[in-house]
Amino acid sequence: MLAVVPPPVTVRVPAKVNLHLAVGNLRADGYHDMVTVFQALSLHDDVTVAIADDPGIEVLGEGADSVPTGPSNLAWKAVRALAEHVGRDPEEPKVRVVIRKNIPVAGGMAGGSADAAAALVGLASLWRLEIGRDELALLARKIGADVPFALYGGTALGTDRGDQIVPVLARHPFHWVIAFDKGGLSTPEVFTELDRLRADGNPPRVGAAEAVLEGLSSGDPRQLALLLGNDLQAAAVSLRPNLRRTLRAGVNAGALAGMVSGSGPTCAFLCSDADSAVRVAAELAGAGVCRTVRVAQGPMPGARVIATEEAP
Ligand code: ATP
Repeated sequence: MLAVVPPPVTVRVPAKVNLHLAVGNLRADGYHDMVTVFQALSLHDDVTVAIADDPGIEVLGEGADSVPTGPSNLAWKAVRALAEHVGRDPEEPKVRVVIRKNIPVAGGMAGGSADAAAALVGLASLWRLEIGRDELALLARKIGADVPFALYGGTALGTDRGDQIVPVLARHPFHWVIAFDKGGLSTPEVFTELDRLRADGNPPRVGAAEAVLEGLSSGDPRQLALLLGNDLQAAAVSLRPNLRRTLRAGVNAGALAGMVSGSGPTCAFLCSDADSAVRVAAELAGAGVCRTVRVAQGPMPGARVIATEEAP
């Protein structure tokens, strides 16, 4: 009897922005405690997984040249982790992964983590596994702290390393403008810079997350704009002083507030509505302070199958 090869599966996965990112002091184990509020945005990568005799990874699109295609690719780590979890050979997974990137690489929007989450969801479908999101999230945490949120999407509170996820009520859509900088920033270097700034002085710290959660449930972008905060911003700006100009340009263009996204260098601007976001994006693009400008909306769902192509 001929074995039927299942058709390739394509998963769409969102970028994230941190509306609130509180970083604790350096712990003895080298990590920092974090309290963060994530929102998933309409800026996304698409990841296709297929059964193949020539296993491996191919990366196309935004920043593809700077993404590894070997075992260090986070999507490949996800393939191996899931293979091992379900008793398949992690060294010979017979899977081909194609990543179409729109999320800026090393941009502070968790693009690599998103691709890992997409690979988990795609493979669970391709291999017809009976596995729920909560079980996938346990694997996701081992791959990276931002991977679980990319599975769930929406708006969520993250604690511990940011990887213990609790969904947050945010019924209203928010409108964002995203400014990609030239090149990326290494997340560990940004944390090291924050530790250095804290050893030297007292950079401002964001307060508790409760106010942001109230701002979200109000649905009023003007209220939320006053409450956005990111402890990593001072460190990202210290490493990339040009970000000051980008942040100022977005607010001058009419955004309600601007902030560095995660560890940067991408900047995210909250706007009052969809029309305002389009106007801010056009003006920011003309200001020549960043590489690329995109309009986005949040919250969006987490990694989800968008297509299964029937094999020819
Ligand atoms: P975070 O916000 O989670 O700290 P980031 O958005 O700043 O991450 P990523 O785009 O996830 O950064 O990439 C960080 C590094 O991880 C890149 O420099 C790249 O070398 C590596 N990497 C591994 N897999 C991927 C992937 N699938 N996509 C992008 N980068 C990847």
